[in-house]
Amino acid sequence: MEIHVELKTNSKMFCGCKNDPFHASKPNIYTCPVCLGLPGALPVANKKAIEWTIKLGLALKCEIPLFSKFDRKNYFYPDLPKGYQISQYDQPFCKNGFIETSFGRVGITRVHLEEDTGKLQHTIIDGKKVSLIDFNRSGVPLVEIVTEPDIRSSDEAREFLKQLHQIIRYLDISDAEMEKGSMRLEPNISVKRLASSGKSESKEIGDLPPYKVEVKNINSFGFVKKAIDFEVKRHQEILEKGETPLQETRGWDEKKNLTYMQRKKESAHDYRYFPDPDLPPMRWTEEYIESLKKQLPQLPKERIQRFISEYQLSEMDATRLIDDPKLGEYFEMGIKNFESKIKEAKLLPKDLTNWILNKKVDISKVSFEELFTQVVGAKVKVSMDPNEMSKIIEKVLAEQTKAVIDYKSGKTGVIMFLVGMVMKELKGKGDAQEVRIVLEKKLTQ
Ligand code: ZN
Ligand code: MN
Repeated sequence: MEIHVELKTNSKMFCGCKNDPFHASKPNIYTCPVCLGLPGALPVANKKAIEWTIKLGLALKCEIPLFSKFDRKNYFYPDLPKGYQISQYDQPFCKNGFIETSFGRVGITRVHLEEDTGKLQHTIIDGKKVSLIDFNRSGVPLVEIVTEPDIRSSDEAREFLKQLHQIIRYLDISDAEMEKGSMRLEPNISVKRLASSGKSESKEIGDLPPYKVEVKNINSFGFVKKAIDFEVKRHQEILEKGETPLQETRGWDEKKNLTYMQRKKESAHDYRYFPDPDLPPMRWTEEYIESLKKQLPQLPKERIQRFISEYQLSEMDATRLIDDPKLGEYFEMGIKNFESKIKEAKLLPKDLTNWILNKKVDISKVSFEELFTQVVGAKVKVSMDPNEMSKIIEKVLAEQTKAVIDYKSGKTGVIMFLVGMVMKELKGKGDAQEVRIVLEKKLTQ
């Protein structure tokens, strides 16, 4: 799997231009001689982007070599006006990491930093076919993550990508929004025959197949799964005929649910990589890498474990709670700040978690204090005598004869008025939803 992620630094990778291509009001407004590739312009590397790349590598349990450099990847296409992309070849910032999935370990071969390209738009102007280029995205810092060939099913691919996506969001280094293209997924697929070992199970044998097919720029986890399943079936059919699938690059057509041929795949020597003479190589100290390690936030997996042991949550609830880093933060800060009140009310962290998850609380609108009050209120409601509530409802119905007649003649909207009257009598106890149900039952009897 290859994954490209745009970093959300303020400026671009090798110049001071604004890094905000999605919000640009017009094409080509965030450009300068460097990212337009004008002769004589010199790049300067963005320190923040390098730090973030190393942090991602550390979060993916990579080794961080103390020496690294940028290289030129030469190719001739108008989306990069220099005629090459500044990337990294044999000395990436990070290598040999992994992510543990429920299917097994997926090795991370490397994490390197490069620059994104401009965007081509093929259109028709005055009846003529033209290609337009927008360089707002050209030179945006782009991290590339490459895995080992360890993924053995489309489900494993999906789980791996979800974990990676979550780690990136926890590090807060990219929007990682796939629809926008700030995270782009490229599975490389090949199929190999299993050797029957004589017993019932089959074993994998030998090296990797002599070919692979890359599907470019997929923009959702669901599409990756579909594209992999499509390719596996296609390769199987070719292999059954005794042929070998072509090594090529394909695209994913999300409307037709199939892949289509784009071009024959280049091999590395076509790119004529060599060290970029405009950018000095970089050397780090152990202390510097250590200091970056210390800045890492607690990552999703460790956080789930901590929520389970510290707050006695189920694994499922903890997983749901940490899915959005902000939600986990909201829960944890709340529990800390309201610790004594929560104890006083004889509530458990689990009670608050249930409320947050089941009621799908919008944490941008409901403060933890309000949430706490709601949960306490609900608890009072439960301990309220149903007979008492019933009595109060009867009393309100007896008093509000006009509203009752209105309701029975079809003006059912008046129910909210009656709910309000009952809630007033209950003095803030009880649950409006439940009152409404009881009211409706009594009115239709
Ligand atoms: Zn620029
Ligand atoms: Mn790349």
